[in-house]
Amino acid sequence: MEIKYENVSYVYNPKTALKKVALKDINLVIQDSQINALIGTSGSGKTTLIELLNSLLVPTKGKVIVDKDIIANKGYIKNINQLRRKVGIVFQFPEEQFFNLTVKKEIEFGLLSFNYRTNELDKRVSDALKMVGLDDSYLERDPFKLSNGEQRKVAIASILVFNPKIIVFDEPTIGLDYDSKKNLIKLIRMLKNRYNKTIIIISHDIDFIHNISDYVILLDKGNLILTGSKYDTLANPAVLKEFNIPMPKVVEFSYKVLKKKGIKMGYRDDVNDLLKDIYRYAK
Ligand code: ADP
Ligand code: MG
Repeated sequence: MEIKYENVSYVYNPKTALKKVALKDINLVIQDSQINALIGTSGSGKTTLIELLNSLLVPTKGKVIVDKDIIANKGYIKNINQLRRKVGIVFQFPEEQFFNLTVKKEIEFGLLSFNYRTNELDKRVSDALKMVGLDDSYLERDPFKLSNGEQRKVAIASILVFNPKIIVFDEPTIGLDYDSKKNLIKLIRMLKNRYNKTIIIISHDIDFIHNISDYVILLDKGNLILTGSKYDTLANPAVLKEFNIPMPKVVEFSYKVLKKKGIKMGYRDDVNDLLKDIYRYAK
């Protein structure tokens, strides 16, 4: 499914004293069926960029193409409900938006307007729960009484239940402990590998991004300044330095070993794989 930004600018409060240019002339293709990381300092335009994807915002100039829909000032969107079912956005702290009394109601809420038969609705909710690693015993539980990690899973299930092709995560690791983060990494990989989803992740967590992403998009003050595969960006110390991106720990370690010991280690996504390499060397 094509996702493309063509000469997209976005201005908040145009023609007022509060005018704020959030995106400037962005040309970008999001890689289909891959994990795309969107990085940049606070205020660089990341959330604005993704809110254009399902027409929560409409470009001030230029157009965003999602599949057969064009989101533009004079755009043509066949059916906005259908567009919103193609693009699922898991917003920051999604569990703060909970308002239903059971997990089941929370997950099926967004589906109710679509006239599913009850048994089909139940199956979809149950399948979405299973995808995030929770079983049916959670259906009647109170979402407010779950752990942080479980709440985050329910919030994600409430998006997966639509079966969107594109899934956006805005800062998904904030507030999660180590195990929940590990589970999230597994889930996102499965969404790509087994279900062929296109994933976009906004995150400040450079080690998480380095671990999970295939492609990287860097914004700065509303400008697109770098795109490329993870190997050409986050794994390249010269590029990290040039664009002022913090160095992922795995890259930093490998780089130090190369500089100080002259040993070139294989490229690793995950610190545990790197540790195995080190034990192998040490033997
Ligand atoms: P990020 O997600 O990278 O932190 P945002 O897309 O939220 O960046 O914001 C980009 C710029 O637009 C920032 O300067 C921000 O202050 C401004 N901005 C975001 N939302 C609004 C809004 N609703 N009204 C006015 N300015 C906004
Ligand atoms: Mg943001």
